[in-house]
Amino acid sequence: MGNIFSFSTTPSDLLSLIQGCGSSALDVYLTFTNKVALLATPQPRPPSIGRLLNNESIAVSSVGKELTPGDARYTTIHDGVSHHPLGAGSYIFKTDYAKALLTYLNLYPKTEDATDQRPFNRPRPRKLIVHIGAQPNNSPHAGTMITFALGFIIARKIQRRYCDMGGDTGKLPPLTVSVSLDLVDTAPDSKKTIEKDGIAYQRSHRNTNAMAEFLPDYSELLERLSTFTNNEVQYTCTRQADLLKSKHIPKVLDVILADHVRIGRELGPESNRIALRAACPVEGCGIAEKHGKLNQYHYGDGIPTVTFNCLHHGPHTSSLVPAHIEKFELNTPLRNLVRGVANMLDTIETQGDVDGEERYHLRVTGGDYAGIYQEQLFYRQINCLMKAVFPQCSQLPLPVICYAPLLTDWSGAKLSKSLYVKEGAYAYLEEQNKDYLLSYSRMKEMGKDPRVIFREVESWVEDPRRLFRNYSVEYFTRLFEQADEPDVHPVAAPVALPLPYSPRNIVNSRQ
Ligand SMILES: [Zn+2]
Repeated sequence: MGNIFSFSTTPSDLLSLIQGCGSSALDVYLTFTNKVALLATPQPRPPSIGRLLNNESIAVSSVGKELTPGDARYTTIHDGVSHHPLGAGSYIFKTDYAKALLTYLNLYPKTEDATDQRPFNRPRPRKLIVHIGAQPNNSPHAGTMITFALGFIIARKIQRRYCDMGGDTGKLPPLTVSVSLDLVDTAPDSKKTIEKDGIAYQRSHRNTNAMAEFLPDYSELLERLSTFTNNEVQYTCTRQADLLKSKHIPKVLDVILADHVRIGRELGPESNRIALRAACPVEGCGIAEKHGKLNQYHYGDGIPTVTFNCLHHGPHTSSLVPAHIEKFELNTPLRNLVRGVANMLDTIETQGDVDGEERYHLRVTGGDYAGIYQEQLFYRQINCLMKAVFPQCSQLPLPVICYAPLLTDWSGAKLSKSLYVKEGAYAYLEEQNKDYLLSYSRMKEMGKDPRVIFREVESWVEDPRRLFRNYSVEYFTRLFEQADEPDVHPVAAPVALPLPYSPRNIVNSRQ
């Protein structure tokens, strides 16, 4: 680093000073607030050392703004070394994550030559569905793209790993792995949420169709990921009605409703209710009570019924019959539990089906759902429901979930699509032309290549210890900058040698 000095100035004076230095003087990083500037003066540098600042013109134009105290901007100077310390998951799964997943899915052979299907005298085809999900209330942002990419790339990795074990030589039953994007069209349309007397009412995307604007971006992204994975991974797209129409849902809901008081306390500790909803059937209304606080459950004639409440039209009743269930709406924890248990039942049933295929399910979701969320809202509930749902099953195919690293802001918080959509957060990213991370449509407008994200996620799957941590906006903007700068040479790591999958200029240290 060259000389560093700081002083108080106004933004316009600072701009004049910088402009007076000439453009060649700005091959350095700049940080400022509305009052204090820290300017590192340039030093001759060898061409192999990456520039700390690539986008000086953006920084300068920002300085030129008359900033108020609330608009203060900050930055951090770092060494570009990205560490991947081993611990917990990264320690256990650092070399062969795919084998571990196949083991947990019961697809990894228990013996050298057994297919584990001897009772059927012939190998039956196996199908693994890798589920990814989204609430399509905006064009997908980079965090969502990371999760989607992980779904496709893990699917391909598992498929290849299985083939290596004998899946393509007849030693093991044939396995096909596909990705299913499960769209949560029952998520609330935030513009249609109303609160009255402490009760929240909403209309869902399914009802308002507000998501129609964004669905083409999701379709395009899936197609690009399929292409990126050499079309080795097929994909499908489902809506909530597809889930709710599936065979095992009535039984799962039946068991949950029978225990809804306890489950409501644990899944909704603020409302003490399960958030089961149904849109008002009155033409043109479609309002549903958000938290299920007013729901009443009846068990009179063998088939449970639920009385829901509309803000304008009062109570309406649905039974646990397929035609009604298809119209139900479930909040995230309840949906997570219902589909998880339904998938377990699907796997159990197909393992006993002589003529059909065996089906297995794997979920890939964001890392913010790891930890107490799944432990208490999911696995704890499965344990509680086990006797009622799986009376004959001694060994349950417990759900297997892969968590995608989060894309975090400067403070370590998840980059939030909702905050961006609802409250205009991250203005500083727009000022620096980095808002392409906030939406796929913006990424396309700015000519940024989403394969930068795909390749990075691919490197995590090849070196799995990188999967068990989060990544900052700065990390990803650096990757995009490198992709835009083909003349930047790789940097010799100051403290460690780069790894085989290292992106240029972000140096990945060993522990
Ligand atoms: Zn109504």
